[in-house]
Amino acid sequence: MNGADSHNGTNRESKAPVNSTPSLDFVRAIIAEDLLTNKYGGRVHTRFPPEPNGYLHIGHAKSICLNFGIAAENKGGLCNLRFDDTNPSKEDIEYVEAIKEDVRWLGFDWEARLFYASDYFEQLYQYAVQLIKDGKAYVCDLSAEEIREHRGTLTEPGRESPYRSRSVTENLDLFERMRAGEFEDGSHVLRAKIDMSSRNLNMRDPVMYRILRATHHRTGDQWCVYPMYDFTHCISDSIERITHSICTLEFENNRPLYDWFLDELKLYHPQQIEFARLNLNYTVMSKRKLLELVEGKYVAGWDDPRMPTISGLRRRGYTPEAVRAFCEQIGVSKRDSVIDIALLEHCVREDLNRRAPRVMAVLRPLRVVIDNYPEGKVEELAAVNNPEDPSMGTRKVPFSRILYIEREDFREEPPKGFFRLAPGREVRLRYAYFIKCESAVKDEKTGEVIELHCTYDPQTRDGAPPDGRKVKATLHWVSAAHAVEAEARLYDSLFLKADPEEEGADFKNSLNPNSLEVLKSCRMEPSLANAKSGDRYQFERLGYFCVDPDSSKGALVFNRTVTLRDPWSKMEKRQQSG
Ligand code: ATP
Ligand code: MG
Repeated sequence: MNGADSHNGTNRESKAPVNSTPSLDFVRAIIAEDLLTNKYGGRVHTRFPPEPNGYLHIGHAKSICLNFGIAAENKGGLCNLRFDDTNPSKEDIEYVEAIKEDVRWLGFDWEARLFYASDYFEQLYQYAVQLIKDGKAYVCDLSAEEIREHRGTLTEPGRESPYRSRSVTENLDLFERMRAGEFEDGSHVLRAKIDMSSRNLNMRDPVMYRILRATHHRTGDQWCVYPMYDFTHCISDSIERITHSICTLEFENNRPLYDWFLDELKLYHPQQIEFARLNLNYTVMSKRKLLELVEGKYVAGWDDPRMPTISGLRRRGYTPEAVRAFCEQIGVSKRDSVIDIALLEHCVREDLNRRAPRVMAVLRPLRVVIDNYPEGKVEELAAVNNPEDPSMGTRKVPFSRILYIEREDFREEPPKGFFRLAPGREVRLRYAYFIKCESAVKDEKTGEVIELHCTYDPQTRDGAPPDGRKVKATLHWVSAAHAVEAEARLYDSLFLKADPEEEGADFKNSLNPNSLEVLKSCRMEPSLANAKSGDRYQFERLGYFCVDPDSSKGALVFNRTVTLRDPWSKMEKRQQSG
């Protein structure tokens, strides 16, 4: 096999496995119990409810894997994708499309169950009318600021709005006129009439509807009143006959309200269950902050490979399998914690180690002339595509008189412990020969080494010489005449601090100024000439790389997904043992 044809093994995205048997975390334990007691007639129906106000991030992946995963694990289980689109001023169709793409890429399928909270606007409005008729909701003329003042604190009860005792007739009339556009934005809201002295602040007459003149990406200008999250979410779950409404811990105190609306309206009642959200170190993970990074041009976009977004991880070269494995490994719990980003990197290394073909690429080229190798001669040397998977076969790599090696693989004065090339020193070239450095040519002005002259031992082609002598290092290389030129983008952490918001700091103050290094004139083995956007490789000794979509503009561009854990010691040990 030759070239890129043998390299597409890594690029087929697979569906999430359906019959994995993850251990029973507390969410799954609740569901198992509900199945035993036949609480929902043996049904399991979850949903993933993103607000289309930004791109999905790795935290959302945890929620997606949990919701779609649970549905897949249970016979007949279903999971809906529902856009929680009740805030038109922040939402956009671009986000809707991006979210769909990301969920699909992760390997999940909502089949025909794509929903929008905005589909329920009329129904929600009618439920609000019902609550007014039941004396459970009222139109309030206090401003947002006044409502906040009236709310009280954790230690002080709230004060009742002077509009709380309006008659049903007056409330119905005002609410209708709110909908009809008779009032200014912010002049009136509809509130649930619950309990201003409740210990739970969410129960102190929460706002159900606000007036907002904003064009909605789906309903246009049809509405100028929009329902609030708490009112919308439980009813949407109920309409879709969700059994388990799984959300993050910060909604724990909203659960009484979730239950209140459904109970007062006597609607079908799903069970809300809260789990701890994913937090990762060396990153920020809220859409608001990620939007700030995009809008402030601190990154190139939502899919910048340094972003913790799913689209960023994809562009960086992560596989859906690696992201799912990560979500499985972190598990689901009730307690907040911070996961080390190293675990995410570990997961992608594990996956790519199995699947990514090895190739040779030189990121910072140093020219090497093999003086005793015949001019014009080319040998095609067999190279293994993936030692972890013999079925991935071999390819041919051309060897010739002039090569490139990595600049940092040569030292004029090698320090102790440096076993790579140096004057008079012999090393192996991977899949090829032993070469010995005879001399170094320097730039007259800068003194920088710009070319090495070496000799090779023809008796060492991919094996030990008859005299049994050994070398302590194996270098990767590329034949100069055959090399493909490419750009490599090396990424480092976007933030310098494990907690970019430590002690209330602005996260933008701990941005890493060196989070991106661009190398323009890398040299790669010719099998990469036909690499396509999204293809993933291991560059031997350097790390995992994937082809960036920018490659369509002409020159090949590679993103470094992740470095290899311990490239030097491994290679050197392997060489010593034969
Ligand atoms: P952010 O705080 O990042 O803006 P969000 O909660 O506002 O996120 P939504 O679109 O409302 O974003 O989230 C959709 C679903 O994903 C919700 O059920 C939410 O609980 C879940 N989710 C969001 N962030 C995380 C996270 N870090 N870990 C796990 N689940 C999350
Ligand atoms: Mg939210």
